[in-house]
Amino acid sequence: YGDASQKMDYVFKVVLIGDSAVGKSQLLARYARNDFSLDSKSTIGVEFQARTLLIQGKSVKAQIWDTAGQERYRAVTSAYYRGAVGAMLVYDISRRQTFDHIPRWLEELRGHADKNIVIILIGNKSDLEEQRAVPTEDAKEFAEKEGLFFLETSALEARNVEDAFLTVLTEIFNIVN
Ligand code: GDP
Ligand code: MG
Repeated sequence: YGDASQKMDYVFKVVLIGDSAVGKSQLLARYARNDFSLDSKSTIGVEFQARTLLIQGKSVKAQIWDTAGQERYRAVTSAYYRGAVGAMLVYDISRRQTFDHIPRWLEELRGHADKNIVIILIGNKSDLEEQRAVPTEDAKEFAEKEGLFFLETSALEARNVEDAFLTVLTEIFNIVN
């Protein structure tokens, strides 16, 4: 409704990237709708979901984009990255290969996105501790070297998901203010 108090102060586009099946769509579902599905179909068509939040008294619309199941190298188009001010670079802590591909994703991101884009590295599926294939320390070290934020999350258990999005959105907010 046209209530002046609901006027949006900012719209921030944030993109999710990373290998197939690391949990990008479920992280988005958890953040945008507090929903989770164990048998999520692979994403069809580029889509985004929005969530509105208040940061320091300003209303911010987070427009979070999810890949169209185009996770193969160079399949994500430049339109996907256009205008993005934040990026969540996601791997699965139980599959080493998804972490080994992170430098490639980072290179692609840096090639397409604004150079001031805020990036967080996310080790998802932290609930699968018994199957862990990526030590936290390795990821932390990589993130520090590359100047990225870093968190381990579980979309399944809703662990650190809010924090991950809030970290990126607050940092973007601080940059534009
Ligand atoms: P995407 O291809 O990166 O979008 O991955 P999806 O979000 O479709 O998730 C792939 C699979 O991993 C699905 O079966 C999800 O239910 C599962 N999944 C996603 N997040 C988690 C998580 O945090 N923990 C566990 N155990 N499974 C997850
Ligand atoms: Mg998906």
